[in-house]
Amino acid sequence: MARSTRRVFLGQLGAAGAVVMPGLGSLPWGARAPRAVATAQDSSGATYDLLLAGGRVIDPAQGLSAVRDVAILHGRIARIDERIPQAQARQVFDAAGKIVTPGLIDLHSHVYEHGTPLGVNSDVVGNLSGVTTVVDAGTTGASMFPGFRKFVIESARTRIYALLNISTAGCCTDEIYLDARLINTRAVLRVIDAHRDLILGIKVRVRGSHEDLAHDISVMKTAREIADQAGLPIMMHWSTEPDLLAVMKAGDILTHPFNPPSERTSNVFGSQLTQADEVLPQIQALTDRGIFTDGQLATTHHQWEVSEKATSQGWFPDAISTDVARTPDRTPASVLLPMSQFLHLGMSLEQVIERVTTNPAKMLSYPEKVGSLEPGSSADVAVLELEQGSFTFGDGSRPQAHTRELRQQFVNVATVKGGVFVKGG
Ligand SMILES: [Zn+2]
Repeated sequence: MARSTRRVFLGQLGAAGAVVMPGLGSLPWGARAPRAVATAQDSSGATYDLLLAGGRVIDPAQGLSAVRDVAILHGRIARIDERIPQAQARQVFDAAGKIVTPGLIDLHSHVYEHGTPLGVNSDVVGNLSGVTTVVDAGTTGASMFPGFRKFVIESARTRIYALLNISTAGCCTDEIYLDARLINTRAVLRVIDAHRDLILGIKVRVRGSHEDLAHDISVMKTAREIADQAGLPIMMHWSTEPDLLAVMKAGDILTHPFNPPSERTSNVFGSQLTQADEVLPQIQALTDRGIFTDGQLATTHHQWEVSEKATSQGWFPDAISTDVARTPDRTPASVLLPMSQFLHLGMSLEQVIERVTTNPAKMLSYPEKVGSLEPGSSADVAVLELEQGSFTFGDGSRPQAHTRELRQQFVNVATVKGGVFVKGG
Protein backbone atom coordinates (compact mmCIF):
# COMPACT_ATOMS: atom_id res chain seq x y z
CA MET A 1 0.00 0.00 0.00
CA ALA A 2 1.92 3.05 -1.20
CA ARG A 3 -0.16 5.64 0.59
CA SER A 4 -2.71 5.43 3.31
CA THR A 5 -5.48 7.92 2.89
CA ARG A 6 -9.08 7.70 4.02
CA ARG A 7 -10.04 6.54 0.54
CA VAL A 8 -7.41 3.84 0.68
CA PHE A 9 -8.71 2.88 4.11
CA LEU A 10 -12.20 2.39 2.74
CA GLY A 11 -10.80 0.44 -0.19
CA GLN A 12 -9.00 -1.88 2.16
CA LEU A 13 -12.17 -2.56 4.05
CA GLY A 14 -13.88 -3.48 0.81
CA ALA A 15 -11.00 -5.62 -0.35
CA ALA A 16 -11.02 -7.49 2.92
CA GLY A 17 -14.63 -8.37 2.30
CA ALA A 18 -15.75 -6.38 5.31
CA VAL A 19 -19.16 -4.80 5.44
CA VAL A 20 -18.93 -1.02 5.28
CA MET A 21 -21.62 0.35 7.53
CA PRO A 22 -23.89 3.27 6.69
CA GLY A 23 -22.35 6.43 8.01
CA LEU A 24 -18.81 5.36 7.36
CA GLY A 25 -18.54 8.09 4.75
CA SER A 26 -19.13 10.71 7.43
CA LEU A 27 -17.00 9.38 10.24
CA PRO A 28 -16.81 11.76 13.18
CA TRP A 29 -13.05 11.83 12.99
CA GLY A 30 -11.59 13.86 15.82
CA ALA A 31 -9.12 16.73 15.85
CA ARG A 32 -6.20 14.49 14.96
CA ALA A 33 -8.01 12.80 12.13
CA PRO A 34 -8.18 12.06 9.32
CA ARG A 35 -4.44 11.85 9.01
CA ALA A 36 -2.50 10.43 6.18
CA VAL A 37 0.03 7.98 7.50
CA ALA A 38 2.65 7.68 4.83
CA THR A 39 5.67 6.05 6.31
CA ALA A 40 8.29 3.74 4.93
CA GLN A 41 6.74 1.06 7.05
CA ASP A 42 3.43 1.64 5.35
CA SER A 43 4.77 0.68 1.94
CA SER A 44 4.32 -2.89 3.05
CA GLY A 45 1.27 -2.05 5.21
CA ALA A 46 1.16 -0.18 8.52
CA THR A 47 1.35 -2.23 11.68
CA TYR A 48 -2.30 -1.58 12.58
CA ASP A 49 -5.51 -0.92 10.64
CA LEU A 50 -7.07 1.36 13.24
CA LEU A 51 -5.97 3.10 16.41
CA LEU A 52 -8.47 4.33 19.00
CA ALA A 53 -6.28 6.89 20.69
CA GLY A 54 -6.35 8.32 24.19
CA GLY A 55 -9.76 7.17 25.46
CA ARG A 56 -10.53 5.99 28.97
CA VAL A 57 -10.50 2.26 28.38
CA ILE A 58 -12.76 0.32 30.76
CA ASP A 59 -12.41 -3.44 30.39
CA PRO A 60 -13.43 -5.19 33.63
CA ALA A 61 -12.21 -8.55 32.23
CA GLN A 62 -8.67 -7.17 32.37
CA GLY A 63 -9.20 -5.02 35.49
CA LEU A 64 -8.55 -2.00 33.33
CA SER A 65 -9.92 1.52 33.78
CA ALA A 66 -7.34 4.00 32.51
CA VAL A 67 -6.37 6.14 29.54
CA ARG A 68 -5.02 3.81 26.86
CA ASP A 69 -4.60 3.42 23.12
CA VAL A 70 -6.29 0.46 21.44
CA ALA A 71 -4.83 -0.91 18.20
CA ILE A 72 -6.80 -3.10 15.81
CA LEU A 73 -5.48 -5.33 13.04
CA HIS A 74 -7.35 -7.73 10.74
CA GLY A 75 -10.57 -7.43 12.74
CA ARG A 76 -8.91 -8.33 16.05
CA ILE A 77 -7.69 -6.38 19.05
CA ALA A 78 -3.94 -6.29 18.46
CA ARG A 79 -2.59 -4.26 21.37
CA ILE A 80 -3.58 -2.01 24.28
CA ASP A 81 -0.95 0.30 25.62
CA GLU A 82 -0.37 3.66 27.28
CA ARG A 83 0.97 5.05 24.05
CA ILE A 84 1.02 3.50 20.62
CA PRO A 85 2.68 5.65 17.92
CA GLN A 86 0.00 6.98 15.63
CA ALA A 87 2.29 6.54 12.65
CA GLN A 88 1.89 2.79 13.10
CA ALA A 89 -1.80 2.93 12.20
CA ARG A 90 -3.47 3.38 8.84
CA GLN A 91 -6.25 5.32 10.52
CA VAL A 92 -6.54 7.06 13.87
CA PHE A 93 -9.69 7.86 15.81
CA ASP A 94 -9.26 10.45 18.54
CA ALA A 95 -11.05 9.02 21.58
CA ALA A 96 -9.67 11.58 24.07
CA GLY A 97 -12.34 12.43 26.64
CA LYS A 98 -14.41 9.40 25.59
CA ILE A 99 -15.10 6.06 27.25
CA VAL A 100 -13.81 3.05 25.33
CA THR A 101 -15.29 -0.32 26.29
CA PRO A 102 -15.67 -3.80 24.82
CA GLY A 103 -18.60 -3.89 22.38
CA LEU A 104 -21.68 -3.99 24.59
CA ILE A 105 -23.83 -7.10 25.08
CA ASP A 106 -27.61 -6.84 25.45
CA LEU A 107 -28.43 -10.12 27.19
CA HIS A 108 -32.19 -9.89 26.81
CA SER A 109 -33.81 -8.32 23.78
CA HIS A 110 -36.46 -9.16 21.21
CA VAL A 111 -35.27 -8.49 17.68
CA TYR A 112 -37.56 -10.47 15.36
CA GLU A 113 -38.66 -7.24 13.71
CA HIS A 114 -41.80 -7.73 11.55
CA GLY A 115 -41.97 -11.33 12.77
CA THR A 116 -43.53 -10.49 16.14
CA PRO A 117 -45.26 -7.37 17.47
CA LEU A 118 -42.62 -6.68 20.10
CA GLY A 119 -39.63 -7.11 17.77
CA VAL A 120 -37.27 -4.16 17.25
CA ASN A 121 -34.53 -3.63 14.67
CA SER A 122 -31.39 -5.40 15.80
CA ASP A 123 -28.99 -2.90 14.27
CA VAL A 124 -30.78 0.15 15.71
CA VAL A 125 -30.47 -1.26 19.23
CA GLY A 126 -27.20 -2.98 18.27
CA ASN A 127 -24.32 -1.82 16.11
CA LEU A 128 -25.63 1.74 15.79
CA SER A 129 -25.66 2.05 19.60
CA GLY A 130 -22.35 0.50 20.70
CA VAL A 131 -23.98 -2.92 21.12
CA THR A 132 -22.15 -5.55 19.09
CA THR A 133 -23.88 -8.63 20.55
CA VAL A 134 -27.60 -9.03 21.14
CA VAL A 135 -29.22 -12.08 22.73
CA ASP A 136 -32.82 -12.56 21.68
CA ALA A 137 -34.52 -13.98 24.76
CA GLY A 138 -37.11 -16.43 23.53
CA THR A 139 -38.96 -14.48 20.88
CA THR A 140 -39.09 -17.65 18.83
CA GLY A 141 -39.80 -21.27 19.62
CA ALA A 142 -39.08 -24.36 17.57
CA SER A 143 -41.56 -23.53 14.82
CA MET A 144 -40.37 -19.96 14.25
CA PHE A 145 -36.64 -20.11 14.83
CA PRO A 146 -35.59 -21.12 11.28
CA GLY A 147 -37.39 -18.03 9.89
CA PHE A 148 -35.83 -15.79 12.54
CA ARG A 149 -32.42 -17.13 11.58
CA LYS A 150 -32.92 -16.70 7.84
CA PHE A 151 -34.67 -13.34 7.78
CA VAL A 152 -33.02 -11.52 10.70
CA ILE A 153 -29.92 -13.14 12.18
CA GLU A 154 -28.21 -13.89 8.88
CA SER A 155 -28.70 -10.39 7.46
CA ALA A 156 -28.13 -8.34 10.62
CA ARG A 157 -24.84 -6.56 11.05
CA THR A 158 -25.08 -6.97 14.81
CA ARG A 159 -24.07 -10.37 16.19
CA ILE A 160 -27.28 -12.07 17.32
CA TYR A 161 -27.63 -15.16 19.49
CA ALA A 162 -30.85 -16.63 20.83
CA LEU A 163 -32.49 -18.36 23.75
CA LEU A 164 -35.08 -20.72 22.31
CA ASN A 165 -38.54 -20.41 23.80
CA ILE A 166 -39.70 -23.74 25.20
CA SER A 167 -43.12 -22.91 23.76
CA THR A 168 -43.23 -23.93 20.11
CA ALA A 169 -44.99 -20.65 19.31
CA GLY A 170 -42.46 -18.43 21.11
CA CYS A 171 -43.71 -15.00 22.19
CA CYS A 172 -45.86 -14.53 19.10
CA THR A 173 -48.14 -12.27 21.09
CA ASP A 174 -47.60 -10.53 24.37
CA GLU A 175 -50.50 -12.30 26.07
CA ILE A 176 -49.57 -15.93 25.62
CA TYR A 177 -47.89 -17.25 28.70
CA LEU A 178 -46.67 -20.76 28.61
CA ASP A 179 -49.30 -23.28 27.62
CA ALA A 180 -48.06 -26.81 28.30
CA ARG A 181 -49.78 -27.99 25.11
CA LEU A 182 -47.31 -25.84 23.17
CA ILE A 183 -44.27 -27.71 24.45
CA ASN A 184 -42.92 -30.26 22.00
CA THR A 185 -39.80 -31.66 23.59
CA ARG A 186 -38.57 -33.46 20.48
CA ALA A 187 -39.02 -30.36 18.30
CA VAL A 188 -37.14 -28.16 20.80
CA LEU A 189 -34.19 -30.57 20.94
CA ARG A 190 -34.16 -30.99 17.16
CA VAL A 191 -34.04 -27.22 16.56
CA ILE A 192 -31.35 -26.75 19.21
CA ASP A 193 -29.21 -29.43 17.58
CA ALA A 194 -29.64 -27.90 14.13
CA HIS A 195 -28.73 -24.39 15.36
CA ARG A 196 -26.15 -24.93 18.10
CA ASP A 197 -24.06 -22.12 16.63
CA LEU A 198 -26.77 -19.62 17.61
CA ILE A 199 -28.97 -21.06 20.37
CA LEU A 200 -27.27 -20.58 23.73
CA GLY A 201 -30.11 -21.35 26.16
CA ILE A 202 -33.80 -21.89 26.77
CA LYS A 203 -36.36 -19.25 27.71
CA VAL A 204 -39.29 -20.09 29.96
CA ARG A 205 -42.10 -17.65 30.58
CA VAL A 206 -43.97 -18.89 33.65
CA ARG A 207 -47.14 -17.25 34.94
CA GLY A 208 -45.81 -16.68 38.43
CA SER A 209 -49.08 -16.48 40.32
CA HIS A 210 -49.73 -18.77 43.27
CA GLU A 211 -52.80 -20.45 41.81
CA ASP A 212 -50.76 -21.46 38.75
CA LEU A 213 -47.89 -22.85 40.78
CA ALA A 214 -48.54 -26.49 39.88
CA HIS A 215 -48.66 -25.60 36.17
CA ASP A 216 -45.50 -23.52 36.42
CA ILE A 217 -43.56 -26.21 38.27
CA SER A 218 -44.62 -28.80 35.76
CA VAL A 219 -43.43 -26.74 32.74
CA MET A 220 -40.24 -25.74 34.56
CA LYS A 221 -39.47 -29.40 35.21
CA THR A 222 -40.00 -30.17 31.52
CA ALA A 223 -37.75 -27.24 30.66
CA ARG A 224 -35.15 -28.55 33.11
CA GLU A 225 -35.13 -31.95 31.42
CA ILE A 226 -34.76 -30.37 27.97
CA ALA A 227 -32.09 -27.93 29.12
CA ASP A 228 -30.08 -30.65 30.84
CA GLN A 229 -30.36 -32.91 27.83
CA ALA A 230 -29.21 -30.08 25.54
CA GLY A 231 -26.53 -28.91 28.00
CA LEU A 232 -27.92 -25.37 28.04
CA PRO A 233 -29.07 -22.97 30.79
CA ILE A 234 -32.60 -21.69 31.38
CA MET A 235 -33.63 -18.04 31.55
CA MET A 236 -36.81 -17.81 33.63
CA HIS A 237 -39.30 -15.10 34.38
CA TRP A 238 -39.04 -14.25 38.05
CA SER A 239 -41.58 -15.60 40.51
CA THR A 240 -41.41 -15.47 44.27
CA GLU A 241 -42.60 -19.05 44.59
CA PRO A 242 -39.63 -20.80 46.26
CA ASP A 243 -40.70 -24.14 44.79
CA LEU A 244 -40.16 -22.67 41.34
CA LEU A 245 -36.75 -21.29 42.25
CA ALA A 246 -35.82 -24.76 43.45
CA VAL A 247 -36.07 -26.04 39.87
CA MET A 248 -33.37 -23.58 38.81
CA LYS A 249 -29.73 -24.52 39.12
CA ALA A 250 -26.24 -23.09 38.65
CA GLY A 251 -25.84 -21.33 35.32
CA ASP A 252 -29.53 -20.44 34.98
CA ILE A 253 -30.68 -16.82 34.74
CA LEU A 254 -33.55 -15.10 36.50
CA THR A 255 -34.95 -12.10 34.64
CA HIS A 256 -37.24 -9.11 35.47
CA PRO A 257 -36.41 -8.49 39.15
CA PHE A 258 -37.82 -4.94 39.29
CA ASN A 259 -41.44 -5.63 38.28
CA PRO A 260 -44.08 -3.34 39.76
CA PRO A 261 -45.74 -5.45 42.47
CA SER A 262 -48.98 -7.12 41.47
CA GLU A 263 -50.74 -10.34 42.29
CA ARG A 264 -49.50 -11.96 39.10
CA THR A 265 -45.95 -10.70 38.80
CA SER A 266 -43.37 -10.46 41.52
CA ASN A 267 -40.11 -8.72 42.20
CA VAL A 268 -37.16 -8.87 44.56
CA PHE A 269 -39.48 -7.96 47.42
CA GLY A 270 -42.25 -10.42 46.59
CA SER A 271 -45.69 -9.86 45.15
CA GLN A 272 -48.19 -7.21 46.14
CA LEU A 273 -49.34 -9.37 49.03
CA THR A 274 -45.87 -9.98 50.40
CA GLN A 275 -44.15 -6.71 49.52
CA ALA A 276 -41.53 -6.15 52.20
CA ASP A 277 -38.63 -3.76 52.64
CA GLU A 278 -35.82 -6.26 52.54
CA VAL A 279 -34.71 -8.09 49.41
CA LEU A 280 -36.11 -11.60 49.70
CA PRO A 281 -33.75 -14.25 51.14
CA GLN A 282 -34.45 -16.52 48.13
CA ILE A 283 -33.12 -13.75 45.87
CA GLN A 284 -30.12 -13.09 48.10
CA ALA A 285 -29.32 -16.82 47.98
CA LEU A 286 -29.16 -16.98 44.17
CA THR A 287 -25.54 -15.85 43.94
CA ASP A 288 -24.38 -18.64 46.26
CA ARG A 289 -26.38 -21.11 44.16
CA GLY A 290 -24.56 -19.93 40.99
CA ILE A 291 -27.76 -18.51 39.48
CA PHE A 292 -27.47 -15.20 37.63
CA THR A 293 -29.88 -12.27 37.55
CA ASP A 294 -30.71 -9.98 34.65
CA GLY A 295 -32.29 -6.56 35.25
CA GLN A 296 -34.19 -4.07 33.10
CA LEU A 297 -35.30 -0.55 33.98
CA ALA A 298 -36.76 0.99 30.85
CA THR A 299 -39.65 -1.44 30.38
CA THR A 300 -43.03 -2.42 31.74
CA HIS A 301 -41.06 -4.73 34.05
CA HIS A 302 -39.76 -1.82 36.12
CA GLN A 303 -40.92 0.46 38.88
CA TRP A 304 -38.55 3.12 40.19
CA GLU A 305 -39.60 2.55 43.81
CA VAL A 306 -38.63 -1.12 43.51
CA SER A 307 -35.25 -0.58 41.86
CA GLU A 308 -34.42 2.27 44.25
CA LYS A 309 -35.24 0.18 47.30
CA ALA A 310 -33.19 -2.76 46.00
CA THR A 311 -30.13 -0.81 44.90
CA SER A 312 -30.10 1.26 48.11
CA GLN A 313 -29.61 -2.10 49.88
CA GLY A 314 -26.71 -2.85 47.56
CA TRP A 315 -28.62 -5.41 45.50
CA PHE A 316 -27.78 -5.14 41.80
CA PRO A 317 -28.53 -7.63 39.02
CA ASP A 318 -25.56 -9.41 37.40
CA ALA A 319 -26.48 -8.16 33.92
CA ILE A 320 -28.21 -5.07 32.56
CA SER A 321 -30.39 -5.60 29.49
CA THR A 322 -33.23 -3.92 27.62
CA ASP A 323 -36.01 -6.47 27.14
CA VAL A 324 -37.04 -3.95 24.47
CA ALA A 325 -36.49 -0.64 26.21
CA ARG A 326 -38.33 2.44 25.01
CA THR A 327 -37.27 6.06 25.05
CA PRO A 328 -39.76 8.61 26.40
CA ASP A 329 -41.09 9.08 22.84
CA ARG A 330 -41.63 5.26 22.67
CA THR A 331 -38.96 4.53 20.06
CA PRO A 332 -36.81 1.42 20.67
CA ALA A 333 -33.80 2.17 22.84
CA SER A 334 -30.55 0.30 23.25
CA VAL A 335 -28.99 -0.93 26.47
CA LEU A 336 -27.43 2.56 26.85
CA LEU A 337 -30.76 3.63 28.36
CA PRO A 338 -30.90 1.21 31.31
CA MET A 339 -27.14 1.73 31.74
CA SER A 340 -27.80 5.47 32.25
CA GLN A 341 -30.55 4.62 34.73
CA PHE A 342 -28.34 2.28 36.76
CA LEU A 343 -25.70 5.00 36.86
CA HIS A 344 -28.41 7.28 38.26
CA LEU A 345 -29.24 4.62 40.86
CA GLY A 346 -25.71 4.86 42.24
CA MET A 347 -23.68 2.24 40.42
CA SER A 348 -20.16 3.25 39.43
CA LEU A 349 -19.22 3.59 35.77
CA GLU A 350 -17.14 0.40 36.04
CA GLN A 351 -20.00 -1.53 37.69
CA VAL A 352 -22.36 -0.51 34.88
CA ILE A 353 -19.87 -1.45 32.13
CA GLU A 354 -19.19 -4.80 33.80
CA ARG A 355 -22.90 -5.67 33.55
CA VAL A 356 -23.01 -5.17 29.80
CA THR A 357 -19.63 -6.73 28.98
CA THR A 358 -17.79 -9.11 31.33
CA ASN A 359 -20.82 -10.41 33.23
CA PRO A 360 -23.14 -11.29 30.34
CA ALA A 361 -20.10 -12.80 28.60
CA LYS A 362 -19.77 -15.23 31.51
CA MET A 363 -23.46 -16.09 31.63
CA LEU A 364 -23.72 -17.93 28.30
CA SER A 365 -21.27 -19.99 26.21
CA TYR A 366 -20.77 -17.79 23.16
CA PRO A 367 -19.03 -19.40 20.17
CA GLU A 368 -17.02 -16.18 19.74
CA LYS A 369 -15.15 -14.50 22.59
CA VAL A 370 -17.21 -11.41 23.45
CA GLY A 371 -17.22 -8.76 26.16
CA SER A 372 -13.49 -8.14 26.39
CA LEU A 373 -10.74 -6.15 24.68
CA GLU A 374 -8.10 -8.77 25.35
CA PRO A 375 -5.63 -8.94 22.44
CA GLY A 376 -6.74 -11.61 20.00
CA SER A 377 -10.46 -11.00 20.63
CA SER A 378 -12.73 -9.89 17.84
CA ALA A 379 -12.35 -6.10 17.56
CA ASP A 380 -15.74 -5.22 19.04
CA VAL A 381 -15.50 -1.82 20.69
CA ALA A 382 -17.93 0.84 21.92
CA VAL A 383 -16.85 4.47 22.14
CA LEU A 384 -19.22 6.27 24.48
CA GLU A 385 -19.76 9.68 25.99
CA LEU A 386 -21.67 10.82 29.06
CA GLU A 387 -23.93 13.61 27.93
CA GLN A 388 -24.79 16.09 30.71
CA GLY A 389 -28.24 17.66 30.99
CA SER A 390 -31.69 16.84 32.25
CA PHE A 391 -33.34 13.63 31.03
CA THR A 392 -36.72 12.41 32.29
CA PHE A 393 -37.53 8.70 32.25
CA GLY A 394 -40.71 6.93 33.31
CA ASP A 395 -41.33 3.36 34.45
CA GLY A 396 -43.99 0.67 34.10
CA SER A 397 -46.26 1.97 36.86
CA ARG A 398 -49.98 2.12 36.05
CA PRO A 399 -52.12 3.94 35.32
CA GLN A 400 -49.48 6.65 35.35
CA ALA A 401 -45.73 6.14 34.93
CA HIS A 402 -43.55 7.43 37.76
CA THR A 403 -40.66 9.51 36.51
CA ARG A 404 -37.12 10.36 37.56
CA GLU A 405 -34.78 13.00 36.22
CA LEU A 406 -31.29 11.89 35.20
CA ARG A 407 -28.36 14.32 35.09
CA GLN A 408 -26.35 12.35 32.56
CA GLN A 409 -26.87 9.70 29.95
CA PHE A 410 -24.69 7.45 27.81
CA VAL A 411 -24.39 8.37 24.15
CA ASN A 412 -22.73 6.21 21.51
CA VAL A 413 -20.02 8.04 19.58
CA ALA A 414 -18.79 5.12 17.49
CA THR A 415 -18.78 1.35 17.36
CA VAL A 416 -16.25 -1.05 15.96
CA LYS A 417 -17.64 -4.49 15.12
CA GLY A 418 -15.11 -7.10 14.00
CA GLY A 419 -12.74 -4.27 13.06
CA VAL A 420 -15.33 -2.41 11.00
CA PHE A 421 -15.95 1.16 12.08
CA VAL A 422 -19.57 2.30 12.55
CA LYS A 423 -20.62 5.87 13.21
CA GLY A 424 -22.58 6.40 16.44
CA GLY A 425 -26.37 6.27 16.32
ZN1 LIG B 1 -38.28 -10.47 27.31
